[in-house]
Amino acid sequence: MTKLRFFDAHSHIDMKRFRNDRDAVIQRAKDHGLSGIVTSSIGPGSFRRTLGIIQKHKGYVHHSAGCSVSQLTREDADKIISLIRKYSSSIVAIGEVGLDYHWVKDTIGRKAQEPLFLDFIFLANELALPLVIHSRKAESMATDILEKHFSGEVLMHCFDGVPDVAKRVRDNGWYITLPANFQRSNNRIESAKILPLEQIMLETDSPYLSPTGKGRNEPSNVTIGCERLADVLDLPLEHVAETTTSNAHRFYDI
Ligand SMILES: [Zn+2]
Repeated sequence: MTKLRFFDAHSHIDMKRFRNDRDAVIQRAKDHGLSGIVTSSIGPGSFRRTLGIIQKHKGYVHHSAGCSVSQLTREDADKIISLIRKYSSSIVAIGEVGLDYHWVKDTIGRKAQEPLFLDFIFLANELALPLVIHSRKAESMATDILEKHFSGEVLMHCFDGVPDVAKRVRDNGWYITLPANFQRSNNRIESAKILPLEQIMLETDSPYLSPTGKGRNEPSNVTIGCERLADVLDLPLEHVAETTTSNAHRFYDI
């Protein structure tokens, strides 16, 4: 049997919880058949830390540069934007960026996220980079803004939107990523069926969203998400693994 190929299209392996064994975690991903990992920086410090990681694991760990959407300040956004400009040739996407209505519940706080989101959208347009979108409880609003202002490739990370928004994502030709615990959400199960497999990738969002519900998640667990997706779609594991992996290589251009 040929060896299966997987890909973790969204993680945060620069985080402190990987400080002591990051190389072992990356080795385990290779041992599980992952052809690559995208790690997403969430601030200026995280960005700089990630530069070192992608240097050390060149060609295997890739950098998507974004922010912590619910906590983003104007000051940090400006710092991140200038870092992206400076290092644009070493990053594969801008994101996660977007809107967070889960942690931010007041109207003023929610409104304040929009101009920052737009700045990243304009930057992605200008640098011709794809966008990875965080849209927690704000899928429809984020879709409105993107449809209006962005012409490039879009990945809705950890997408949890209702079927109507999933259909818009599909019709726009955008992608979604599903986490390894996706089957706990009816929206995610529906999205997996609404979008063609050619528009779906798998992610772990490590260290978050452990497939068992506890402990630290890591990229090698993307194989678990793949098994579950193959199950839900009633497709052979080989087909789901290969298609989601090649989608990620195509989207991130790696
Ligand atoms: Zn994330």
